[in-house]
Amino acid sequence: MESLTDSEQPTSSQPQVEGSQSEGVDLLSFNRAELAAFLKERFGAPAYRAEQIFQWFYREGVQDFAQMTNIARELRQNLAQAFRIPEAPVLSRQISNDGTRKYLFGVDRGGAVESVMIKQPKRMTLCVSSQIGCGMGCAFCRTATMGFHRHLATSEILRQVLGVVKDAKNFDDMFQNIVFMGMGEPLHNFDNVMRALSVLVDPKGLAISPRKITVSTVGLVPAIEKFGTSGVDVNLAISLNATTNEIREELMPITKAFPLERLIGALRALPVKGRKKLTIEYVMLHGVNDSADDLRRLPKLVAGLPAKINLIPYNTNAGLGFETPSEDYVRHWQDVLTRKGINTTIRWSKGQDIDAACGQLAVKNLEKRKKHSIALNVLESVGAQTRVNSNATLSSAS
Ligand code: SAH
Repeated sequence: MESLTDSEQPTSSQPQVEGSQSEGVDLLSFNRAELAAFLKERFGAPAYRAEQIFQWFYREGVQDFAQMTNIARELRQNLAQAFRIPEAPVLSRQISNDGTRKYLFGVDRGGAVESVMIKQPKRMTLCVSSQIGCGMGCAFCRTATMGFHRHLATSEILRQVLGVVKDAKNFDDMFQNIVFMGMGEPLHNFDNVMRALSVLVDPKGLAISPRKITVSTVGLVPAIEKFGTSGVDVNLAISLNATTNEIREELMPITKAFPLERLIGALRALPVKGRKKLTIEYVMLHGVNDSADDLRRLPKLVAGLPAKINLIPYNTNAGLGFETPSEDYVRHWQDVLTRKGINTTIRWSKGQDIDAACGQLAVKNLEKRKKHSIALNVLESVGAQTRVNSNATLSSAS
């Protein structure tokens, strides 16, 4: 795992068609429309060929072009030469005593990412990573201590899902939901995440209902705006985590670029369809963001947004020096918010014993590579109009 050299791989609205002729281009780097365009250009093939290939690969699990029997033999041979179909090797798999499983998947260029199959009473939720490390620098999150290494390619995101699907056969289970709440800030890796989402929800792709997929963000306002008009209809969760800019800036440096007013404004401006699916996440850090005043301010802040609130008691195993409130106190918050008419749930940590719970994901031997790398280029890449002041933690990375 020593060869994580590239600090940032640029996102682009085009799939990154990598690979020489001999090893082929990565089939998982395309959504269906892009694959159709590629096949048309390369082979003069009609658009339905992409549909057939998607059907075989994503719906039927067929990895060998020779077996795609409704495609002409000559084209099958050409396809086998043109494409490669990479898998994510399982470098390790740990199983928690609560049934949660954590995977370490190998990705390209010697990297590794974690995905978690979270066991809940009535369902399983798959939590996937969108970046190696993270540049957002949130004070309570272990992934932040890794710094930002690079964006995951579309294929590397999809391979986590396919890898877990494959291994789930060994447990006779399957996830019902997918959340982009693993390592990384998904909206910072916008194009690759959106392309992966389009394959996940494609009826000819993995055919997962958009209602079962949630993307969680620190609140990158320009990306939220783009997300709102993208037509990809998955749920959005916002890590709010504070009720004043002052406290939020301490916890989440991104607040300096996008203060609460702008963030809430962007949520209000989302198309109605998108707004319906909002979750406000609130990590409760005892004595920091869980005062009686916070509890009074929170409903006002989200007033008028058709949002539900998800309270997340700080997972002390993240080991970042915060304290978690008592169970009774968390339930008190839930009661008060519920009485105000806000649907409020509590997310109790799962998989703590295997470092798989919220805020604990960090590929250990990669830790501390580029700490505090919430860099200007991170913000620029999401189109931020930053007001960076000299004492801010938003200073440029080393
Ligand atoms: N970057 C995205 C997605 C990853 S974090 C985001 O911030 O939303 C997924 C969730 O885990 C977020 O709501 C985050 O606030 C929460 N989280 C991070 N560290 C935590 C910790 N130590 N305890 C509990 N929740 C934590």
